[in-house]
Amino acid sequence: MMREIKAKTGLEIECKGWEQEAALRMLYNNLDPEVAERPEDLVVYGGIGKAARNWESFEAIENTLRNLEKDETMLIQSGKPVAVFKTHEEAPRVLMSNSVLVPKWATWEHFNELDKKGLMMYGQMTAGSWIYIGSQGIVQGTYETFAELANQNYDGTLRGTITLTAGLGGMGGAQPLAVTMNEGVALCVEIDESRIDKRIDTRYLDVKTDSLDEALKLAEEARDEGRPLSIGLIGNAAEIHHEILKRDFKIDVVTDQTSAHDPLNGYIPEGYSLEKAKALRDADPVEYVKLSSASMAKHVEAMLLFKDKGAVVFDYGNNIRQVAFDRGVTNAFDFPGFVPAYIRPLFCEGKGPFRFVALSGDPNDITAADKKMRELFPDNEKLLRWLDMAEEKIAFQGLPSRIAWLGYGERVKMGLALNDMVKTGEISAPIVIGRDHLDSGSVASPNRETESMKDGSDAVGDWAILNALVNTAAGGSWISVHHGGGVGMGYSLHAGMVVVADGSDRAARRLERVLTTDPGMGVVRHVDAGYDIAIATAKEKGVNIPMLKE
Ligand code: NAD
Repeated sequence: MMREIKAKTGLEIECKGWEQEAALRMLYNNLDPEVAERPEDLVVYGGIGKAARNWESFEAIENTLRNLEKDETMLIQSGKPVAVFKTHEEAPRVLMSNSVLVPKWATWEHFNELDKKGLMMYGQMTAGSWIYIGSQGIVQGTYETFAELANQNYDGTLRGTITLTAGLGGMGGAQPLAVTMNEGVALCVEIDESRIDKRIDTRYLDVKTDSLDEALKLAEEARDEGRPLSIGLIGNAAEIHHEILKRDFKIDVVTDQTSAHDPLNGYIPEGYSLEKAKALRDADPVEYVKLSSASMAKHVEAMLLFKDKGAVVFDYGNNIRQVAFDRGVTNAFDFPGFVPAYIRPLFCEGKGPFRFVALSGDPNDITAADKKMRELFPDNEKLLRWLDMAEEKIAFQGLPSRIAWLGYGERVKMGLALNDMVKTGEISAPIVIGRDHLDSGSVASPNRETESMKDGSDAVGDWAILNALVNTAAGGSWISVHHGGGVGMGYSLHAGMVVVADGSDRAARRLERVLTTDPGMGVVRHVDAGYDIAIATAKEKGVNIPMLKE
């Protein structure tokens, strides 16, 4: 069985309350063809990140949500609904645990065995926790990363520079727009032409070509004129990057967003077409992984050579350095990950990818919310600049939504304002508020969000679990714990949070609690690791940390 799922809009609900309806609509939204990468296989993004284990589970989730009472909670185990318990009205309606394996068994080999037997599902980050909103969900994070890179290296703009990257999938597809928003030129290598077409259709990418010569010519011209341009080049990064090196063409910035975290499903070995790769994957997965990881090693070697030539090189959170290191590239970690290089100071203030979605499907609801955000934060110039650009350049995918990096204190302010707007009718239907798992206090991921922590606590997983526990206690609408997102099996633990603003007083209480505990965990986690910005934030905002000295 396979169904085409469309995001559901309008004011009529089929569940017994808006909170349950919100979960149903967000599940549908995750799988809308405008949003998901391979909805026919329930795959949302990030390699094989899925929204439900199989179609049978999907239907069972739908039916359970339709019948779920306001004081009941559904439990999801790796994409399959396994129980409904009576809890209470301020408890989450859904609790999820996705892809979690006991540490000693936490490998792709073991996961793939269980997946094959139908016992597990890979939830990635927001795929399995029903708060994926397409490339628009990541684009601000990508924009902020490149903006900070530009601040550190090029007087605050990428104008006149060329960024080379690969992977134009669900997340990686945000790269070209983030680079052009920073006024630079993006050269993006992608093996799958249909992904390039999707990014052009959704206005994330400007042009495509299958000729390296043409791509370099276009890039050079735009760079010399100081004109922003993004180019999708059909090809394999493991080959193309070395070709560019051979031509001694100047590249300024290099990163990568192929799905290197999943060597079996996420990376195409050099010399293979998509069809040949699929045939080999099915016939001989062991050989496939051998070939794909060898290509990744070559890919990383090229990145290191660009670095030797003076380019700014960083890892974009797909674990490609680890794969190359395991294949004998001993200096693979010579370039840093994007979090320690550019993002951590924001995490210290509890800042991260706050997002909200209009369940009505009416874009005017987001326009009204944007206006409110401008009123609430008139001095936050970075945010105002972001909103200007977002309104002009970002096309909605699926349900209209907005991403805005907000910190501790700001999120609760915005959340309560949205709830008020739903109450007064300024916004026509309830709003779903959530975030990526890639956030300040919700991830333990030593090759990504918690790389090079000041106190060496990179691999401490307690923080992600505490985040899910406290957000559950505070009354989020659906809360999840995942393993393996972003960087693959064995490398991360992380938690998701969604809370619904339906205009009620009960929602206001829950929003007030959850939108404080959630970014609060980010501040606390970074205080514990000894970051000065986090300590100052905690003191200024009065976060209660028992062992923080005055
Ligand atoms: P995706 O699976 O949707 O897309 C990956 C793309 O890489 C595909 O389009 C694929 O065709 C392409 N590709 C594979 N092998 C290639 C090769 N050899 N040469 C050129 N192209 C190749 O994944 P996604 O959602 O875009 O995520 C990409 C990676 O980024 C994942 O590892 C993900 O975990 C990571 N990620 C990063 C962030 C971030 O903010 N930095 C956030 C989420 C995910």
